[in-house]
Amino acid sequence: MKFLYKILLWTIITMAAAFGFSGYFFVNFVFRTALNREIEQALDDSNILQFAFETAALNVPAKYDVLQDTAVEQIGSKLESGGQGSGRLLRLSNEDKQVIYASEGFPEEARLIGQVEENIRAYQIIPQGEHYYIQTGIMVNVLDRNLYLETMEDVTEVFAERTMGFSVYRKVTVVMLAVCSAVMYFICSWLTKPIRLLAGATRKMAEGNYGYRAQVVSNDELGMLTEDFNSMANVLEDTIGELQNEVRAREDFIAAFAHELKTPLTAIIGYADLLRSRKLDEEKHFLSSNYIYTEGKRLENMSFRLLDIIVTKREQIEAQPMAVQVLFQYLEDMFKANTQQKIGISYEPATVYGEVNLIKSVLLNLADNACKASAPGGVIEISGAKREEGYLFRVKDYGVGIPEKELKKVTEAFYMVDKSRSRSRNGAGLGLALCVEILRLHGSELHIESKVGEGTCISFCLPWERETADENSGTDET
Ligand code: ATP
Ligand code: MG
Repeated sequence: MKFLYKILLWTIITMAAAFGFSGYFFVNFVFRTALNREIEQALDDSNILQFAFETAALNVPAKYDVLQDTAVEQIGSKLESGGQGSGRLLRLSNEDKQVIYASEGFPEEARLIGQVEENIRAYQIIPQGEHYYIQTGIMVNVLDRNLYLETMEDVTEVFAERTMGFSVYRKVTVVMLAVCSAVMYFICSWLTKPIRLLAGATRKMAEGNYGYRAQVVSNDELGMLTEDFNSMANVLEDTIGELQNEVRAREDFIAAFAHELKTPLTAIIGYADLLRSRKLDEEKHFLSSNYIYTEGKRLENMSFRLLDIIVTKREQIEAQPMAVQVLFQYLEDMFKANTQQKIGISYEPATVYGEVNLIKSVLLNLADNACKASAPGGVIEISGAKREEGYLFRVKDYGVGIPEKELKKVTEAFYMVDKSRSRSRNGAGLGLALCVEILRLHGSELHIESKVGEGTCISFCLPWERETADENSGTDET
């Protein structure tokens, strides 16, 4: 059952109970008051009759000094003016409680005089067919006789009024319930609107519409709940977005990886097939074998790089103090044999924190990229300088440069601006992706500035703070 209908149903039940009980008590109260009034009236009447009887008895000529039963009968019939039609019935009984005179219609079985004593009046309510009567009993002392005088007053009207009161109240209750139910329906549907909107938003989100938000329509707890729900939905949407991006990146990575694997393998298989199926002259034989060797080397290089990235992604580094001289000396040694470009190295001596081999790998990658991008004779500047926030490494070349829209992509795995150019230089498009991972572990990142045709400057800053490196590395060195 809908929440709205539940509230409505319980409200109607509560209202019906409240109306019913209050109506019952009200009508009954009115009835009791009216009945008490009638009882008082009947008792007063009974007193008046007693007095009237005694007065009348005194006027009867006393034959034997005792009031005769016939005289009692006469007085009784005088006092009763017309019997049931007048609304008053009376009955007179002697000392032995035997009836001397009774009005027509006075019920025989209604005996009250057993409770009557001198100065003690009695009364009772008796139903008679469809009528109700108040029966009163009183003792009459006259001429040495103790007679019993009983009266009956018709109070059917009081009971009829009670029945009518109940009936009217029932009708009023039904009308009130109908009106209140209609009003409550609108109030309940207005109160439960935030819940409906929230449920709608939940359904939309469950259908995959993560951008859908519930409308806030109240300032109460339900409004707050809606706001909290929307905040939660924001966080969920962001997280789902991130996860989707990650999944997409992984798919791209796998697609690129498969492609990068396929190209050299196709060439290797092709050349190997050529070698085994035909007898080639010495030069072609050498060229084919050389192609297989270089492509195989490229594959090996690529698998090492991939392994490096995977390991770097998972592992934590052991940051240790290292003199930057060691790094720059390593670069000098590596590029000593390079006669193609003019490599200039300048740096300020300092001690930085990090893992020597990883930072060497980053610098080597950047310098290698610079060489690959530069024309023969091109200048490459490798420098190191102290900055407030850390030690700044820069590798600058005056080579082909990177188009602006490609700047963000070059750090993605397997991304190469000019694929054939990179492949021809044994590139796999993994170097910068590896650099990014290594620097992330050191609490740093790559900054790439480049202009097509003018050259590229790639820099990164290793923070001074040892804690920073440790935090990022996750190690707990003292
Ligand atoms: P690998 O480093 O895996 O051997 P790679 O050098 O091609 O191969 P990355 O180092 O990741 O791969 O570089 C990605 C791409 O970014 C390169 O293919 C190149 O197109 C571009 N690039 C990188 N550095 C430079 C630079 N200094 N000047 C011009 N383009 C660059
Ligand atoms: Mg590279």
